[in-house]
Amino acid sequence: MLGYQIIPVTHYQQNCSLIWCQETGKAAFVDPGGEPEKLLLALEQSGATLEKILLTHGHMDHVGAARVIAERCGVPILGPHKADQFWLDNLPQQAQMMGFEPVGEVQSDQWLNDGDTISLGNCTLVVLHCPGHTPGHIVLVDKQARLAFVGDVLFKGSVGRTDFPQGNHAHLVDSIVTKLWPLGGDIQFVPGHGPMSDFAQERANNPFVADKNFG
Ligand SMILES: [Zn+2]
Ligand SMILES: [Zn+2]
Repeated sequence: MLGYQIIPVTHYQQNCSLIWCQETGKAAFVDPGGEPEKLLLALEQSGATLEKILLTHGHMDHVGAARVIAERCGVPILGPHKADQFWLDNLPQQAQMMGFEPVGEVQSDQWLNDGDTISLGNCTLVVLHCPGHTPGHIVLVDKQARLAFVGDVLFKGSVGRTDFPQGNHAHLVDSIVTKLWPLGGDIQFVPGHGPMSDFAQERANNPFVADKNFG
């Protein structure tokens, strides 16, 4: 089964997740957005072995520590979908705009596509391409653990911003309703920011994507 620990990083309190297979101790960081030393300390304390870094999308606060950790631990960076390459390519400008310390570009070692699967020990994560907040945003789901890492697609009571280049609110709502809801209301999710929730609660209460909006 998949274990996880949420570690908020940067002044955007971005939810980086350390996830691991409880049988094998193989681990990954999802969205290591900053504060690499804090993340590496959490990894050391967990006793797990880092195998890979997973990125949901190319925004600075989700990828800022990816390169440092990849180099330090000798692990590959997987994701997001290739449509977010322009965001990774302009990280130096994003860092400047968002008040982060200067960083270099981040190179993905493997772009991810809808339906891809990622193994972590005995655990399997399914990739869902969920454009809208960014065109190459992906969501990672462990169907056995009933857990999803949704980045900035969906929040408890809200959805991601779409006022960025190539952002699209209609695409975002469509991604949530057609890709996430069919997974089941019992799926708990870790959003990119703020508290966890589950799909059933959001279908009932989220003002942007509740079922009553479409009936
Ligand atoms: Zn974002
Ligand atoms: Zn974010």
